[in-house]
Amino acid sequence: MTLKLNRGDRLVIATHNPGKLKEFDVLLGSTGLDLVSAGQMGVPEPEETGDSFVANARLKASASMTATGLPALADDSGIEIDALDGAPGIYSARWAGEPRDFSAAMARVQRELAEKGAFDDGTAPRANFNCTLCIATPDGRTECFEGKVFGHLEFPPRGDRGFGYDPIFVPDGHDVTFAEMKPELKDTISHRAVAFSLFSKTVLG
Ligand code: IMP
Repeated sequence: MTLKLNRGDRLVIATHNPGKLKEFDVLLGSTGLDLVSAGQMGVPEPEETGDSFVANARLKASASMTATGLPALADDSGIEIDALDGAPGIYSARWAGEPRDFSAAMARVQRELAEKGAFDDGTAPRANFNCTLCIATPDGRTECFEGKVFGHLEFPPRGDRGFGYDPIFVPDGHDVTFAEMKPELKDTISHRAVAFSLFSKTVLG
């Protein structure tokens, strides 16, 4: 049976990233859950050693649940590019280096696509964003919810509203990049919105 959470239940958000915690806060704000972050609980950050979004989200959720004894929710996300066999995928953040430089990461995408001849037939390369949420519960169960949004890539990057790879991604049914789109619209069609909707329908009473 699927775990159900109710208003007032404590849920650990398995992240040390204040930006991500804020995002979870907005998406789960109306649920009445008592959200606390792994960072605030002093949980050490596990290394992302998984080879898929599900594996990484699951290991982050399980690490927080084991350390706190409370239900914990984690996410892992990134962009998958068909002509690059799904790269950068789980390495999306890592392609931007340290400190993060997404202009360089997007330039690398364009360069690798050109090297593969992906622009040669004049069609735009296909891509999708993925957001996977996993919840780990104290009885040892985990449940994962995968959200995707499909589209194509355009160069040079356009728009200054988003983050990460938003300036090169044009979602299907639209002619602007995620970084040119009103944030309220992106928030309703994004991979994250899809994953949170699946999570909410299944786990929230
Ligand atoms: P994570 O924080 O390890 O899950 O890394 C996610 C990475 O994927 C981010 O650093 C971004 O590069 C990329 N990414 C995920 N979602 C989005 C999005 O909505 N727009 C742009 N880039 C995203």
